[in-house]
Amino acid sequence: MPELPEVESVRRQLEPALVGRRFERVVIDDGRLVRPNDPAEVAAELQGERVAAVERRGKYLVVRFESGRALLIHLRMTGNLLHLPGRSLPDDPHRRALVALDDGSTVAYRDVRRFGTWLLLEPGEVEPYLSAKVGDEPLDALFTAARLGERLAGRRTSLKAALLDQRTLAGMGNIYVDEALWRARLNPLRAAAGLDRVELRRLHGGIRAALEHGLARQGSTLRDYRLPDGSGGSMQDEFRVYGRGGEPCDRCGTPIARTKVAGRTTWFCPTCQPEEPPQAARSSSRRPSRSSRQSSV
Ligand SMILES: [Zn+2]
Repeated sequence: MPELPEVESVRRQLEPALVGRRFERVVIDDGRLVRPNDPAEVAAELQGERVAAVERRGKYLVVRFESGRALLIHLRMTGNLLHLPGRSLPDDPHRRALVALDDGSTVAYRDVRRFGTWLLLEPGEVEPYLSAKVGDEPLDALFTAARLGERLAGRRTSLKAALLDQRTLAGMGNIYVDEALWRARLNPLRAAAGLDRVELRRLHGGIRAALEHGLARQGSTLRDYRLPDGSGGSMQDEFRVYGRGGEPCDRCGTPIARTKVAGRTTWFCPTCQPEEPPQAARSSSRRPSRSSRQSSV
């Protein structure tokens, strides 16, 4: 599934193509995209809208119109948006929607697995909807290590589960959570609320570094991820742990382990990311590390 670096890479290419343009004609071929709304009605509502901005919140693309309405696009597993110079498009059995823009170009939405969603919201509905669904933006200047500590305080889940929760931090999924935890040298099963100040700083830095690395490579091309110009990202060639079970850790050479945490396949280095924090392991044998495993798997 596209995560923050992938969705932000799409946004950066889409923004210059869309801002200032009017949706001249809209066709929605797949009712699943807009359900429970009627696809013909949504298409008719979108026609004539002029784009004021293309933003991102978490994994949502937010196309804001001059009218104050916004179209929230979630790519889910395999959705992608292609920007094509003209009106004549190659046949594509997975195309679900089309937007003809007033400069003669076309945006085509394709989605093999059909989990993606388009939601048109009225002015005034947009912020409440987003703030209920997504938490802090991890690349925001206001997002500090102390703020991360506040977001994790009181959580009774594993670190991995807490970071996957979009209401804690917006935009991280299975890939970048594993990459961030490796960078922070923290085990995915550690209790989310149990980090000390030094570990919070490491995690904060690890999250940002993992996301920024992904952004610099324009995301990772797994499954059907494509940028609007049809190209892909290259982050998949530079993963430190994700999908690398059995390969040596870049830091210490230990084979990367594969396990399941919070219901998701998880990769980590057993040496760099020990299950217990080093001092706790030395000073106490009563620390209940087993209970955190049970509560999070
Ligand atoms: Zn290692």
